[in-house]
Amino acid sequence: MNRLWVRLSIAFGLVVLLGVVSIAVSYIVLSRADLVDAPLQVWLEGPRGVLEQLARYYKKHEGWQDVETFLLGAESALPDSRVVLALHDSASGALFTAHPDLPAHPDESIPVLVEGQARATLDIFRNKALHITPNQSAFFLARLRDFVLVVAAIGSIVGIVFGVLVSRSLTAPLEQLATAAQAIGARELHRRVAIRGRASQEIVSVANAFNDMAAALEKGETLRRNLVADVAHELRTPLSVLQGNLLAILDGVYPLDTQEIARLYSQTHLLNRLVNDLHELSQAEAKQLRLNVQLVDVAHVLESVVSAFGPTADEAQVHLELHVAPNLPRALLDPMRLTEVLDNLLGNALRHTPPGGTISLCAEVSGEDLVLTVKDTGEGISAEHLPHVFDRFYRTDRARSRATGGTGLGLAIVRAIVEMHGGQITATSDGVPGHGTTFTVRFPALEKT
Ligand code: ATP
Ligand code: MG
Repeated sequence: MNRLWVRLSIAFGLVVLLGVVSIAVSYIVLSRADLVDAPLQVWLEGPRGVLEQLARYYKKHEGWQDVETFLLGAESALPDSRVVLALHDSASGALFTAHPDLPAHPDESIPVLVEGQARATLDIFRNKALHITPNQSAFFLARLRDFVLVVAAIGSIVGIVFGVLVSRSLTAPLEQLATAAQAIGARELHRRVAIRGRASQEIVSVANAFNDMAAALEKGETLRRNLVADVAHELRTPLSVLQGNLLAILDGVYPLDTQEIARLYSQTHLLNRLVNDLHELSQAEAKQLRLNVQLVDVAHVLESVVSAFGPTADEAQVHLELHVAPNLPRALLDPMRLTEVLDNLLGNALRHTPPGGTISLCAEVSGEDLVLTVKDTGEGISAEHLPHVFDRFYRTDRARSRATGGTGLGLAIVRAIVEMHGGQITATSDGVPGHGTTFTVRFPALEKT
């Protein structure tokens, strides 16, 4: 009873019932004898109305010549086409009619008065069968009742069958949705609903929204699973180094000296960085990193980043250049996060550029965006690795990066920060050593001038 399709069917049934009841009431009211007879009477009296017209005809033509044509017209204008008229001139006794074979006795004869004087007699011949007797009236009403009953019965059956079909077709997709939602609740995240047939547009949009939600849940679940697997994998290396070395010290294989402790300490340092980077990345990806957005003099930030990297670049014998477009407008950014982005990109560039190479940092305006590029002449990134460098824990050379302390989270964090500012970051490289890599960051953050 509380199922939607049952309720809809009952509603349809009630509508049909209401229709039948109103037809029945109309029938009962209309079939009351006085209501039916009165209009019939008026209808039957139709020919009397012709009298007035005849009087007018007489005055106009000063006689009855050619009145047959008029009578024929009057007959066809009457509601009952089976009434026939004839006129007897009172003076000459001549008979005017359009019909040669008339019965001897008319059903009715009425004098035609012209200014109070009888000028003729109008004979009215009715088709006998048309006389409505009380029997015929009852017969007519009984037929009408039978007809109404048959129409009501067929209408009810068709209405109810149609109602049940419509209700079922409306509710079947909802049941499918409920089953799929239960499956999703039971972690079957690959489940989708396929709405077949001609479902209504609302149901189709609910199904599409449901499928989008399921796809987003599935993607989130895959990301979560990958992240857990990646984190476990990344933690395993420093932890097993720590564990192995400590065991070796306990077993007396390694001496407990400062050098050994320093090695173990560097592993904890790596673990700590990993944990901090992961924390920052998770916050940035969830858009929960707090941004301190303000109008920033970009040239000033770039200069301080470049001067901070100066000594490291000198040591690596890499030439570091800065090109800032003249009259660069200020930009709405978080200066600390901008510094973090540039530190990451310059750090990477320095790590991957051999001595004698050049790293250039440029800032320019493109349309309404601030565009920053970090270009190096280092080893470049091959086409196979390029699409993945922004993935978390992705390193083109796993062993080497781990040895140099990279967690593979730097670019993932950079991308999350840039996207939090509404910007975009891309990497281009033709993969040829010496041609290097270019990272381009686009911020839609310029101050309107
Ligand atoms: P982290 O930045 O967390 O210390 P990482 O530098 O290894 O570690 P990312 O900054 O995310 O990680 O960079 C990912 C990978 O992309 C790097 O390991 C490196 O292989 C490659 N890469 C990044 N920048 C460059 C570059 N300028 N030239 C060549 N390869 C690069
Ligand atoms: Mg890096």
